[in-house]
Amino acid sequence: MSNNEPGFDTLAIHAGAQPDPATGARITPIYQTASFVFDDVDHAASLFGLQAFGNIYTRITNPTTAVLEERCAALEGGTAALAVASGHAAQLLVMHALMMPGDEFVAAKKLYGGSINQFGQSFKSFGWQVNWADGLTPADFEKAITPKTKAVFIESLANPGGVVMDINGIAEVCRKHHVPLIVDNTMATPYLCRPIEHGADIIVGSLTKFMAGHGNSMGGYIVDGGTFDWGKDDKFPILTEPRPEYNDMVLAETFGNFAFAIACRVLGLRDLGPAISPFNAFQILTGIETLALRMQRHCDNAQKVAEFLDGHDKVEWVSYAGLKKDPHHKLQKQYMPNGAGGVFTFGVKGGYDAGVAMVSNVEIFSHLANIGDTRSLIIHPASTTHRQLDAHQQNEAGAGADVLRLSIGIENADDLIADLAQALKQI
Ligand SMILES: *Cc1c(COP(=O)(O)O)cnc(C)c1O
Repeated sequence: MSNNEPGFDTLAIHAGAQPDPATGARITPIYQTASFVFDDVDHAASLFGLQAFGNIYTRITNPTTAVLEERCAALEGGTAALAVASGHAAQLLVMHALMMPGDEFVAAKKLYGGSINQFGQSFKSFGWQVNWADGLTPADFEKAITPKTKAVFIESLANPGGVVMDINGIAEVCRKHHVPLIVDNTMATPYLCRPIEHGADIIVGSLTKFMAGHGNSMGGYIVDGGTFDWGKDDKFPILTEPRPEYNDMVLAETFGNFAFAIACRVLGLRDLGPAISPFNAFQILTGIETLALRMQRHCDNAQKVAEFLDGHDKVEWVSYAGLKKDPHHKLQKQYMPNGAGGVFTFGVKGGYDAGVAMVSNVEIFSHLANIGDTRSLIIHPASTTHRQLDAHQQNEAGAGADVLRLSIGIENADDLIADLAQALKQI
């Protein structure tokens, strides 16, 4: 190999992997074991004391999962990564390493609905307060920051699509106030956007969606950008104060630019426990091998479908950053020039009943709650994921009565357009 940094598509296949040292197996084996035999008593002691790296128990590390972690770190351009049970588990571990009871963080309002619930409801039990930024500009984020703020959380490309965030601008605000910028990169994936290159400090994401890509495995990931100076002040005691259970080790001093990933693993995974199964790690590794090909096809297909819907007389509006007239088109060109992603929303004329008719009429599209599958997916949020909200709340969340969300698969685009055309015709 040359000395040049390999290309993204090469990393997606090779990063972290080598033929199995024990058997020569070319594909990373599934190490389906809960625990690992120690060489001797001293070896065990050094592993438990964090003086040596090695496997103890699959809740904390596993060799199959380790390959997935190295691959995620390489694709996002970070120093280290963790793979965990789900995207939501990843978000929980990130906040657990940053926040103490009474602390606050700032989040964008345009987020995956599950994250709005997790931040606004469940995190209350930990004493963690979310402050929602009033808009999407860097100034809106700056206004929401207080002395208790420990992080800012955004999605690079926000679910359910259409919204591209100004990562550089928000990162600048974060640097000024010395808080890490966390970017959920689920919808864009590192193929479309590498937020660390734009100033993000921590990446989280769901592996369940485009990364695994086939709708068959749950997983989540965290990447440490290695960019944040934890010891600059006393805001992050978990990283900068001695840990009694590890001989008073100070994580930020011992582990430097990958201390955050270590904290998520040796505190978060150890004590909260959302480990990914080695089998799922294996499935996701296989999926990631084709990420570059799939993502480009998702984007190309979504662009064609969005353009078709945009010109249809039964369609009220289309929100897709890939459309030239879209308010987010400029940011899309800046941050994700290869495409605007595979997920977007549109409004159908006729409101709630027309939305329900659409999900009933489609044949190729599957009516379900997921995104990022090879197959095309459709959901009508007002009758499913957002049905417990009142009309005002539904509109605020971008889930009004007429809204349909599509996750465009990698089938033939003409077939997808024909399916939507026949479903619209029946309304
Ligand atoms: C699905 C999703 C999550 C949560 O991931 P899970 O793997 O379902 O826990 C987080 N953020 C975004 C943008 C998502 O689409």
